[in-house]
Amino acid sequence: MTTTITHWAGGAPFAGTSDRTAPVTNPATGAVTGELALASRADADHVIAAASAAAQEWGRTSLARRTQVMFAFRELLNARKGELAQIITSEHGKVLSDAMGEIARGQEVVEFACGISHLLKGGHSESASTGVDVHSKRDPLGVVGIISPFNFPAMVPMWFFPVAIASGNAVVLKPSEKDPSASLWLAALWQEAGLPDGVFNVLQGDKEAVDALLEHPDVQAISFVGSTPIAEYVYENASKHGKRVQALGGAKNHMVVLPDADLDLAADSAVNAGYGSAGERCMAISVLVAVGSVADELVARIADRTHTLVTGDGNPSDGSKEADMGPLVTRAHRDKVASYIDSGEKAGAKVVVDGREVQAQGAADGFWLGPTLFDNVTPEMEIYHEEIFGPVLSVVRVETYDEAVALINANPYGNGTAIFTNDGGAARRFEADVHVGMIGVNVPIPVPVAYYSFGGWKRSLMGDTHAHGVEGVHFFTRGKVVTTRWIDPANRPEGGLELGFPRNV
Ligand code: NAD
Repeated sequence: MTTTITHWAGGAPFAGTSDRTAPVTNPATGAVTGELALASRADADHVIAAASAAAQEWGRTSLARRTQVMFAFRELLNARKGELAQIITSEHGKVLSDAMGEIARGQEVVEFACGISHLLKGGHSESASTGVDVHSKRDPLGVVGIISPFNFPAMVPMWFFPVAIASGNAVVLKPSEKDPSASLWLAALWQEAGLPDGVFNVLQGDKEAVDALLEHPDVQAISFVGSTPIAEYVYENASKHGKRVQALGGAKNHMVVLPDADLDLAADSAVNAGYGSAGERCMAISVLVAVGSVADELVARIADRTHTLVTGDGNPSDGSKEADMGPLVTRAHRDKVASYIDSGEKAGAKVVVDGREVQAQGAADGFWLGPTLFDNVTPEMEIYHEEIFGPVLSVVRVETYDEAVALINANPYGNGTAIFTNDGGAARRFEADVHVGMIGVNVPIPVPVAYYSFGGWKRSLMGDTHAHGVEGVHFFTRGKVVTTRWIDPANRPEGGLELGFPRNV
């Protein structure tokens, strides 16, 4: 049984007119479970028109009303998040508890956006000049586009749309074609929460849908998350069409372990951050930099832990225990990651744990690959410099702290990094030395809380505004400064002609 996965426009499912479709699979079984509508330009125009029709009225709706809708959405999401987690697991493959974790982090942004009244307060200066007052305000942009990757079908859209909607914009979400169903569940939830039809819309599709969003004159801003080549494409093309853009790209996150670190904490963290969600996280640790004498013991402790991990169905239908790690998202992606393991072995890295040999607890046709651990990886190897985006952890051995920092700073990506040490001075120096946007100290996946902003440096983010937090509010609004003079009959200004540039007195 396959389901038809449509767009969502103006408060209702929209089938579209294109006859192009793509199959959606359950990665744990390999079975095709859905047929996704891929938008044509005309379909995109229809969805964007629905957003345009709703944007102005929503932008003028009172903050009190907008806040009530945000709270209602938060309550519904919190009560029913189990349904969303099932959908995520069935199309992405991550285990159910991990899907719940993704939703929890997205929900934090919804909760942040519930405080939008405070966040949109402007400034006011009385008598900035004699008899003249000045105040600032932030207006919504209108229609904004969100283009999201496969690896967080709920959380990544939720980095953006709660803030965009609370700020008074109408949204068109273009989800990944690999796991598109979460978007429709969220659309229906918004409707139940009382959001006016047309404020949240979904456009399904591939490059054609993306290009339509980048080029459409009614779309004011694009928030993109995905691989770096596509982020660069989106950044260039959306900018060319006059849009505000934040385009978050790929990553190659290093975790440095100094000799004085707590090795059990470091080994647990490396395993959790390297293999959680089968390594398909932009904040996954993919390189472990072992400094000085620490390497042999650390590699041994990580290897021991990987042998206890169960790879299997993230939501087993027979009631058996949930696995630690699910399948990869598609067969093609699974095979690509396996080919990186071949490449590392050929290049001379030591295969300490080989995920190609995994005995998965699941259907024979699932897209399985177990945790893989490489030692003695060097920067010339393909497995070091490519973003693998799978359950593959590479250990690089260096002698000094300075070598570890040099490796991180030479890397073209700058999304996340972490240091494990009990030396506060070294950690403080690391924080200053690395050219990376998000840093963990004894924390392997330092995803900022919702009231800070998420974003990397270098080829991990194009644009200058990070996601959510105050930067998110700034991205989804435009500033205005109003200079006002009201005539007070008791103290009337002199007036008269004066063509010189006005001076404040
Ligand atoms: P992707 O770049 O293949 O796809 C992302 C989005 O772009 C999807 O909606 C897709 O439909 C669209 N797209 C794909 N090819 C396109 C093309 N040629 N033209 C226009 N649009 C296109 O990324 P993915 O495989 O879905 O996700 C994994 C990548 O996302 C990894 O590189 C990962 O690091 C990155 N990511 C980054 C962050 C971050 O915060 N920096 C977060 C999550 C994921």
